[in-house]
Amino acid sequence: MPYVIAEPCINVKDKACVEVCPVDCIYEGPDMLFIHPDECIDCGACEPVCPVKAIFAEDEVPEQWKKFTDMNKQFFKDNPGVQPAKK
Ligand code: SF4
Ligand code: SF4
Repeated sequence: MPYVIAEPCINVKDKACVEVCPVDCIYEGPDMLFIHPDECIDCGACEPVCPVKAIFAEDEVPEQWKKFTDMNKQFFKDNPGVQPAKK
């Protein structure tokens, strides 16, 4: 079950999560970053380093941000071939 980036990342994008992800599965969109649901290995390393607490395990995404689970998946459908965010 992958981790998900939710609303607090919008317009923050400091990429602290990118720095610690061991498999480079975090990608940059126009307003926020997204985790590739098939590449994330569920290590949890990104969650505590996010300064705005935007990252959640999929089953712990708060109710008001549930749509971000699908938004993280949809980003990769909409952007085939996108490259991981640079460290
Ligand atoms: S849980 Fe681990 S593998 Fe998944 S995005 Fe975070 S750091 Fe990367
Ligand atoms: S650490 Fe948090 S705020 Fe920073 S880019 Fe990653 S998800 Fe967004």
